[in-house]
Amino acid sequence: MLQGKTAVVTGSTSGIGLGIALSLARQGATVVLNGFGDIEAAQAEVAATGARVGYHGADMTQPEQIAELMQYARTEFNGVDILVNNAGIQHVANVEDFPAEKWDAIIAINLSSAFHTTRLAIPAMRAKNWGRVINVSSVHGLVASAQKSAYVASKHGLIGFTKAVALETADTGITVNAICPGWVLTPLVQKQVEARAAQAGVTVEQATRSLLGEKQPAPQFTTPEQLGELAVFLCSPAASNVRGVAWNMDGAWAAQ
Ligand code: NAD
Repeated sequence: MLQGKTAVVTGSTSGIGLGIALSLARQGATVVLNGFGDIEAAQAEVAATGARVGYHGADMTQPEQIAELMQYARTEFNGVDILVNNAGIQHVANVEDFPAEKWDAIIAINLSSAFHTTRLAIPAMRAKNWGRVINVSSVHGLVASAQKSAYVASKHGLIGFTKAVALETADTGITVNAICPGWVLTPLVQKQVEARAAQAGVTVEQATRSLLGEKQPAPQFTTPEQLGELAVFLCSPAASNVRGVAWNMDGAWAAQ
């Protein structure tokens, strides 16, 4: 379905980004990976689908490096048809204890990077009258949790950004949407589970159960593969009039 399309997925060396990259690759898209994880393993996994794969190591806190990533996709892979703004980080602390540099980093990576990639992707999408922008927000873009002020602010902001750009492109073949996962067992969440286990003096298994049970009615994690298939749907012709939505896949978390 996506033969001839190029997808840039930020933060795609692990977790949700890699899951989305793999799903798009299986549909025939060329994929440009980005992120700081195990680059060779991620590239090999995507290449094993038969898709063409590239990698750029732009740091999503740096607008000039983001511009280089977009330029790389343009010159090496004939443009950016699908843009998945996925790179994200977390830090957990009460607001009065929140390190200012962590606040700045979270806003830069989780929110501002999507502005910098999107503003550079839209002109060529307009020229082709086709494009898909998928912003990986979170259930924390819809509701809050304590001790996550920067993350919640960034993810709410990303949904607002999604809606504004969806309006600006509503009369074109470009769609702009957000997806809002609940708990997904990735390195980002593994760190939170381990911190919880250490703090409460319990096993990782017990900490996992308490983490899920606290907020999410469904007792299991959403998987990167499921989110990848949601991204594939948003890229399909059936989704061509899905615009400006924040689509949760969150085990009924936000239904409460
Ligand atoms: P992850 O830690 O597995 O992946 C994050 C990716 O971002 C990695 O590839 C990492 O190298 C990259 N990254 C981090 N800082 C970067 C930077 N400065 N520049 C470029 N790349 C950078 O985490 P994940 O859970 O897969 O998270 C992916 C996205 O999904 C994030 O935006 C996160 O907020 C969101 N999300 C995750 C969950 C969850 O439960 N895991 C839930 C909701 C939303």
